[in-house]
Amino acid sequence: MKKQKQGIIRSPKGMHDMLHGDIRYLERISEIAREVAEFYGFLPIQTPHMEDAQLFLRPLGETSDVVEKEMYTLRTKGGDFFALRPEGTAPVVRAYFENGMGSWPQPVKLYYEGSFFRHEKPQRGRFREFRQFGAEALGSDDAVLDALIIKIAYFILREIGFSAKGGPASGWKNNLLVHINSIGDKACRPGYKKELTNYYRKKFNYLCKDCKRRLKDNPLRVLDCKEPGCAEIKTQSPQMIEHLCEACKTHFKSVLEFLDEAQIPYLLDNYLVRGFDYYGRTVFEIFLEDGKKEAVGLPAEEKGGEHQSAQVALVGGGRYDDLAAILGSKPLSAVGFSMGMERLIHEMKRFEIKPKAHPQTKIFLIHIGPAAKKRSFTLMEELRVAGIDAGESISRDNLKTQLNIAAKIGAKLALILGQKEAMDGTIMMRDMDDSLQETVLQSKLVEKIKAKLKKK
Ligand SMILES: [Zn+2]
Ligand SMILES: [Zn+2]
Repeated sequence: MKKQKQGIIRSPKGMHDMLHGDIRYLERISEIAREVAEFYGFLPIQTPHMEDAQLFLRPLGETSDVVEKEMYTLRTKGGDFFALRPEGTAPVVRAYFENGMGSWPQPVKLYYEGSFFRHEKPQRGRFREFRQFGAEALGSDDAVLDALIIKIAYFILREIGFSAKGGPASGWKNNLLVHINSIGDKACRPGYKKELTNYYRKKFNYLCKDCKRRLKDNPLRVLDCKEPGCAEIKTQSPQMIEHLCEACKTHFKSVLEFLDEAQIPYLLDNYLVRGFDYYGRTVFEIFLEDGKKEAVGLPAEEKGGEHQSAQVALVGGGRYDDLAAILGSKPLSAVGFSMGMERLIHEMKRFEIKPKAHPQTKIFLIHIGPAAKKRSFTLMEELRVAGIDAGESISRDNLKTQLNIAAKIGAKLALILGQKEAMDGTIMMRDMDDSLQETVLQSKLVEKIKAKLKKK
């Protein structure tokens, strides 16, 4: 055996433990997201954390940053080439075909949540293992589904507590705004790309190193660059909206009409594109705009123009009608979104939005002596089955210590079991407010507790 480097073992860089405090926030987001998605007929799906690497390599395109440097891949002993999933859309499309969902009534609507992995430079608000909730509507190109996907994402954020008019304490605004664009389809995008390439060729020397390379592979991705120099050049570049074919124009107009109908505020963002090559027609991001001039979670180089200093993208998504064909399947029209949980949690805290409340323990079980300890070991389960939310600290034998814990967690009633009570089947019930106590039969305990708590 090789000698291991000594010292404390730590979690991998960019991957973190999530403790109960943050998990209560996560649970609140999940609960709301699931409830809204299920209401609109979305069904849950779980796909493996690891997939054939080709699932991501093919659709993301050779030029995508995710493929270039951000994917965790591994070669198995059997010679398979796997990847930890960097995103959720390609696996859902794979699952659609693999499980014969093409024969289900269309569209098939699915939602998922879980961990995803990207080998990014760790920075504030960015993790190498991160959690997302996402939803996909597959099997139809109807514009109403684009609007439905946006609507669901938007109202999940609203339900969580964003876009309340004015923050709780200081009256900050935290408005949600949908940034939306159409990037056309196979019929009209190539012409636009050509014109974009011509435009950028003239400015080639002013582009950043990455964009010089991107221009060759996919000029749309130059629009996505956050370097100040490139952002500046972008402001004069040709816009897709003026190059849309009739079909794409009609589709986009229809999406916007549905958003108007639902009174969802949006901004036409003519330069919005998505990092992945398989998107077509509708692309969108939902931003949280607020009065606090702090771009939380965004590194300085990502802030872009001065207008973005107080904007945080909470949701991203779009239509991806070409993805299935890229994967080698039959063509499949689909649209979806995903939201990053860590960023949502961060913003919830910043806006003092409460996490899921943990039920308060009102009963605390205390034992004195070995026989009582044994009896409370089983009594606790009897309370759980009876639906009584009770607490205990059974590994502590000292009466005073146990009483202190009961007081600390704010218990209303302490159940005290001594040697004598353990023998004769009774128990002492102490009111923690006035210290009055009475002895009751263990067989009557549950109904006595319920009666007592009702009065409280
Ligand atoms: Zn650039
Ligand atoms: Zn088109």
